[in-house]
Amino acid sequence: MKPFTFLLVFAMLTTADAQFSQQLFDSYDSYRYPDISSRRFKHAELMTHLAALQTRLGGLATMEEAGRSAEGRSINLLRLGTGKTKVFLWSQMHGDEPTATMALLDLLHYIALRRETPEVKAILKQTTLLIIPMLNPDGAERFQRRTSQGIDMNRDALRLQTPEARVLKSVRDTYQPEIGFNLHDQDPRYSVGDTGGVAVISLLTPAYNTEKSDNAVRTRAKKVASALTVTLERFVKGHLAKYDDTFEPRAFGDNIQKWGTSVVLIESGGWKNDPEKMFIRKLNCVGLLSVFHAVADGSYEKFGTAPYEAIPMNTKNLYDIIIEKATVVFPDGRPPLVADIAINKEEVRQPDGTWWKGRVVDFGDLSVFSAHDVYSGLGKSIDASIVEMGDIVNVEELLEKIR
Ligand SMILES: [Zn+2]
Repeated sequence: MKPFTFLLVFAMLTTADAQFSQQLFDSYDSYRYPDISSRRFKHAELMTHLAALQTRLGGLATMEEAGRSAEGRSINLLRLGTGKTKVFLWSQMHGDEPTATMALLDLLHYIALRRETPEVKAILKQTTLLIIPMLNPDGAERFQRRTSQGIDMNRDALRLQTPEARVLKSVRDTYQPEIGFNLHDQDPRYSVGDTGGVAVISLLTPAYNTEKSDNAVRTRAKKVASALTVTLERFVKGHLAKYDDTFEPRAFGDNIQKWGTSVVLIESGGWKNDPEKMFIRKLNCVGLLSVFHAVADGSYEKFGTAPYEAIPMNTKNLYDIIIEKATVVFPDGRPPLVADIAINKEEVRQPDGTWWKGRVVDFGDLSVFSAHDVYSGLGKSIDASIVEMGDIVNVEELLEKIR
């Protein structure tokens, strides 16, 4: 191919990719799976949704029970498409990390509704999608990370002591997919390098050895991650981070990379005013559908590995709220001082729902940190007794004092 022709083809592919993902982003509300709008759904509810989606998908999807959890809940595998490139996605191996499970429902709904479009036809012709939504249904029941047997199944890839881990391993080994997506949530308080920007999504192509080498499998994972990076940067530029790739010999991502499936880990992080992570769910859905299409037509290859490599590291220097430079006064006569006050909102689970409480988590010169919400306390006085480290604070009342 002559250089000019190559450039032209590259430009055309790039435009087509960009148009498709833009369209997915803009029209999301028309295909978002409408019957789920909060993170705290359990296995029984998921099963209702999967049954409804299977009906809407008609003959496009098969669903089988791939195994059962320790408490006997079904772990289900959906299969779509007849293509030669197998793409395996599994979500919620940590029971309290449901964002991607919702995105998987969205993308199944998209395929059901848009089955006649050239993009969906291409995806179903060139790829086989293998989807396990909610690998840890017992953990989801309790909204906890670990399985009901108390195991973090992401440290059980070698010993395979949990039935849930054995299901994941057995599906991986049966199909030997070329590409895998390991779908998680991370603390919403990660930021992007030292930029202060919140990490809305962090990506990782896990290492398969302690040297963190590249081989054909991991290089392909980096290309897939690059396609995802380029797609998502159109919508959240400066908010993607890269997760630390230190080899973890017990983790599934690292081992599945070693076993020959190119793995990309997606961590759903945080976004301002989005405690239920609905915007991040949308990003997962748009990103994954875009990448399926790029895998279907092979265009993901053209991104190389550079866009992924260039993402800044995930760092933890972000709080929910910082009140800057308030004057803190001590009624007992100790001298006043100027301090920044960091408050995190903690999610407290009650049987009848969830509420949030604020807790003072840092105090002093916090100028190297950032926050989802920053308020100026300049010229305002706050009584030290209400902002001591570890104190539970009524955030609204505190903000009233500095307004
Ligand atoms: Zn996780």
